[in-house]
Amino acid sequence: MPELPQMQALAERLEAAIGGLRLVAADALGFAALKTVTPAPDAVVGHVVEHVGRRGKYVVLGFDDGHRVMVHLSQAGRVDIEDRPKKTRPKGAVVRLRFATPDGEPGPAPLVGTASGASSGVDRRGRSTPAPLVGTASGASSGVDRRGRSTPAVLVREHGTERKAAWWVLAPGDAGPLEGLGPEPDSDDFAELVLHGTDARRIHTWLRDQRTVAGVGRGYADDALWRARVSPYAKLAQLDPGRRAALLDAVRAVLRDGLVKERERAGGLAEPRLGTNFEVHGHAGDPCPRCGETLRRVSYESYEVVYCPACQTDGKVLADRRLSRLVK
Ligand SMILES: [Zn+2]
Repeated sequence: MPELPQMQALAERLEAAIGGLRLVAADALGFAALKTVTPAPDAVVGHVVEHVGRRGKYVVLGFDDGHRVMVHLSQAGRVDIEDRPKKTRPKGAVVRLRFATPDGEPGPAPLVGTASGASSGVDRRGRSTPAPLVGTASGASSGVDRRGRSTPAVLVREHGTERKAAWWVLAPGDAGPLEGLGPEPDSDDFAELVLHGTDARRIHTWLRDQRTVAGVGRGYADDALWRARVSPYAKLAQLDPGRRAALLDAVRAVLRDGLVKERERAGGLAEPRLGTNFEVHGHAGDPCPRCGETLRRVSYESYEVVYCPACQTDGKVLADRRLSRLVK
C-alpha cells in the first residue's frame, strides 16, 4: 500500500502538474468509489486548484473556493497523470479529473457547447480546424491549451479485484475522512506519544493505526522497528527512554529516506508494484543488512511482519499464530 512517502511525493508531482489549473470535469468512473453525495462533483468543476497536499495517506486537492477533493488509494489504487487526457475507461477506473488553464478557456467540448473544438484549432477527433478570432479554446480535449501549455487529466484507478480506492468531494471546512486521523510523524504530538505514551498494543499494530499516527503502514513499520532494534511485538509501555527516542528517530528517518527515494519517481503513481525501497520489509529470507542474520517473517493479524531475530528479539523467533493453531 502506498504510505506517507509515496503519497507525499505523489502530491508534489500533482501540484506541479495541475496546481493553478481549472477543473473542467470530474468523471466518476467507478461504482461506489465516490464516498460523498453532497456536494456533488459538479461543485468543484470550474474551480482552480490552489494547492495539492497530503494528510496521512490521503491526497488533498484544495480549490479556490475552499472545496476539497480527497483521494485514498488503499492497497492497489494508482494514479496516472495523462498529459493528453484519454476518454478510456480502464478496468478498475475510479475517477478522471480533467483540467484546463484558468484564464478563460472552459475546457473540453462537453462544457463549451456546440462545436467547441473548432475554437482551439483542433477538433475532438484531432482534425485541424480554422483558428478562432475570439472566444474559448477547448484545448483541454487535445491536452494542450491555446498557448501550448499542457492541460492534463488525472486518472485514479485500481489494480486487482478489490475495490477500496475512494474519493471525496468536501465542502469548505468539512474534514471528511481526515476526521480522527492521528498526528503526522514529524509533529510534536507524535513525539510526545512515542516518548511518553503507555499504549498497551504491540508496537507494530500501534504504528499502523491511522488514529495513532497518520501515514505509516506495514512497510515503513517493519523498517522503522528494525532500524530502532525494537521487536514488533514489544509494547510501548515496556520501552525505556533510550529505546523510545531511538524509535521516534527511526520512524522519522525511514519516512524521510523513503521520501527522498520517492521523489525520484516521475509521473503519477502508476506501477502495480511500487518496488521495494525497503531495507527489511518484503525481504524475509534475505540476510539482515546490518548483521547478516536471516530475516524472518511472522504472520500476525492477517498480515506479515518482517524482522531480524538477532537485531530485534534477542534471537527469539516470534510465534506464528496461524501455524501454532494448526500444530495444536
Ligand atoms: Zn540483524
